[in-house]
Amino acid sequence: SVPAAVLSALAAAARGGVLFKGGAALETLAEVDTFAFDKTGTLTTGKAEVTEVAAGGGETAFLALLAGLEAHSEHPVADAIRRHAEARGIAPATVRDVRAIPSEGIRGIDAGGVVWAGNRRMAARMAARIYAMADTPASEPDARPDLAALADSAQTVVYLGRGNRILGAVSVADRPRATSAAALAALRAEGVTTIVMMTGDRRPVGIRIGAELGFAPQDIHADLLPQDKVRLVGELAGRGKVAFVGDGVNDAAALARADIGIAMGAAGSEVALRAADVALLSEDMQRLAAARRLARRTRNIIR
Ligand code: ADP
Ligand code: MG
Repeated sequence: SVPAAVLSALAAAARGGVLFKGGAALETLAEVDTFAFDKTGTLTTGKAEVTEVAAGGGETAFLALLAGLEAHSEHPVADAIRRHAEARGIAPATVRDVRAIPSEGIRGIDAGGVVWAGNRRMAARMAARIYAMADTPASEPDARPDLAALADSAQTVVYLGRGNRILGAVSVADRPRATSAAALAALRAEGVTTIVMMTGDRRPVGIRIGAELGFAPQDIHADLLPQDKVRLVGELAGRGKVAFVGDGVNDAAALARADIGIAMGAAGSEVALRAADVALLSEDMQRLAAARRLARRTRNIIR
């Protein structure tokens, strides 16, 4: 039977927007000394913004196609792209047979064949060469999107391609949640010894966001595939009790691998929620630190 103190702690946590799937998860959270955080949609808001479009002319058709693909994705960058197109009155193009490739992007088929959007790894998968834009005929200089400028920025870059040709790219900026810094500071102050970032995004982006949140560069792990997150969580688990906090489809396996998986519930994916032991329904990351305090108090009462 579950001690009354645990039941009332679970109820109190739930009122604060932290849903534990059982008393065991509450006990585990009290013992966690290591936190691994996903970046996009977890440490950062789920509301990213498109900041630049390099389409080499024909921006409307470009954005229509990109939004048509991203209409099928629940990733925060997809949401940013859809809103960007919508704000310009651009209707998404029809793309069918769309499937997501976690931590890379998305692909589908339109009237002209295979179309895709995603990061450098996605481009490599499609055998597209990002730096091959010089292949554009010199007679059409305006049709050459300036990808180099985007690739140099510390922002997420999403390439749009047709077959092995890159049509252009957009950069998407996300920023830390207003409550992330305070939540991390509270966890550090309350005895959490190790806090790392694990992201599928590029390292310059991880470093930029991490610097705002007090991460040392060696605690920022970037360019990760879902299985890389699982492996890193496993390595940390050899040294302590590990919580993984994430929002995406790409986080599901790491959430399951951790001693305790905590999913962002408000905008997070279904798959992440199912794999997790705890759902954080509030947008306020400080509720997580509060839940750990509550878990520790409860443990001290029932001992
Ligand atoms: P994180 O681990 O920080 O949450 P993800 O692993 O979900 O990031 O994504 C890693 C990268 O894969 C993104 O930064 C983006 O470049 C690319 N990506 C993922 N999903 C999509 C999508 N639907 N459209 C375009 N790019 C995507
Ligand atoms: Mg994420």
